[in-house]
Amino acid sequence: MIRRLLVIFLFLFICALSLSGQTANPGELRIVDSYADYFSGIKADSSTRLVEIIKYIPDIKLDIRYATRNNFTGQAVYTEARAFARLPVVITLAAVQQELKEKGLGLKIYDAYRPYSVTVKFFEIATDKSFVASPKTGSRHNRGCAIDMTLIKLKTGKELKMPTPYDSFAPEASAKFNDLPKRARVNRNTLIQVMEAHGFKVLNNEWWHFDFNGWKDFDLMNIPFNKL
Ligand SMILES: [Zn+2]
Repeated sequence: MIRRLLVIFLFLFICALSLSGQTANPGELRIVDSYADYFSGIKADSSTRLVEIIKYIPDIKLDIRYATRNNFTGQAVYTEARAFARLPVVITLAAVQQELKEKGLGLKIYDAYRPYSVTVKFFEIATDKSFVASPKTGSRHNRGCAIDMTLIKLKTGKELKMPTPYDSFAPEASAKFNDLPKRARVNRNTLIQVMEAHGFKVLNNEWWHFDFNGWKDFDLMNIPFNKL
């Protein structure tokens, strides 16, 4: 009897495993990976264009870490240090930059649109999977709707003091962590406040990561920078 129960249990367990594998199959995700598909999307709705941020906000600073070895992977995963995002994201970002300018501040971007294949690579490399998007869902960066950034002083171009460096896996990276030096806390809150006032939302465990509200309307993409 016990043996029969064990066999039934094992059977059910294997069924459950294969079912969960199916629902989470990355193959079921819609990923735009041909230029023709991307182009027909733009023709249907021009707001889905991925545009180069610097062309719309010439005074924005870039420090595209994944084009250098100065990132959590220790290797350059982008061949070009460029930042793209969907048109409405960039237009909103321009308004943020304008508002910050009045306070003598500006934005510095670490990462923006990220091709899906890079998200897959990050997941393979990362030791702490809670800090990287799962290939099963993709990242909002893959949709051209997430920006990693910090604040700089416009005059000097120097970064403002923040709770942690970019891509830190420490608890202090949490957007709500408050046991911090006052200056770091105030600067981080200034960044979050201005971004959220313009329709972005900070990611709970990364003070530098902001999602554009409405990201669900944009497809995951796997088109390299040099094809955009
Ligand atoms: Zn991010």
